[in-house]
Amino acid sequence: MPDSRCSFCTKDADSVGTLVAGAGVFICDECVALCAQLVKDKKTSGPAPRVPMWEQVGDEALLAHLPRIEAVRDQVDDDLRAWVAEARRRELSWDKIGAALGMKRQSAWERFAG
Ligand SMILES: [Zn+2]
Repeated sequence: MPDSRCSFCTKDADSVGTLVAGAGVFICDECVALCAQLVKDKKTSGPAPRVPMWEQVGDEALLAHLPRIEAVRDQVDDDLRAWVAEARRRELSWDKIGAALGMKRQSAWERFAG
């Protein structure tokens, strides 16, 4: 997975120990450990914890983070395409795929075919 990034911290696969794939998202070993600690601490009130926390990054780091977020968005889109391709490999109709995505058959075909 040379281009895959952790969807939480946006580090690339080469910068982390392990990267685990989910449905359109990835999480690295460091974020799993951080999340496990947050769950253990039972932080349930207030806004969801953000990785990295805005208060902990300067302006340059914040700007550097923007293209990595865009890359994560692109990998979510790529994974959706892979799931739709699997649905088509299973010969599921464009009607069913469109319905699952809340769009018309034609819209699903235009977005994902080819
Ligand atoms: Zn991470």
